[in-house]
Amino acid sequence: MLGTIAKKLRMFGFNCKYDSSIDDDCLMLIAKKENRIIITKDSKLAINAIRHNIATITLQAATEKGQLIEIAKKINYKKFTLEHSRCSICNGVINITSKDQLTQKIPLRIVESMEKFWQCDRCAHIYWIGSHIINMERLIAELNNEL
Ligand SMILES: [Zn+2]
Repeated sequence: MLGTIAKKLRMFGFNCKYDSSIDDDCLMLIAKKENRIIITKDSKLAINAIRHNIATITLQAATEKGQLIEIAKKINYKKFTLEHSRCSICNGVINITSKDQLTQKIPLRIVESMEKFWQCDRCAHIYWIGSHIINMERLIAELNNEL
């Protein structure tokens, strides 16, 4: 399962669909129709997708960090960043929002202690620079070091 990789790729700004319940034929159809790259650990799917002329990345690395580096190298991606993050939950576009426009309940201490908030245009999830983002920044520094 590459769900956590998909979430991270979205945070790095990649338009990334993920559905673990979809079958291979359907997945290849979507990839072809939407001009997407299939990222998989399944060599059978990879061989089938390549046979259908679908861009495919077959992951070999055992660790998540190794897999992210594999992906970056395959697409000649030079620098991970959070500047164009998409919603890690639904792949929606995230826009900056003001405190008084927050439509979803978030803890008051967060509202009071943070200045900047972002909201997903699809699922309305709210983001702020918390420990999760700080951990992502740390991961980005490690990844970019190896690119
Ligand atoms: Zn969302």
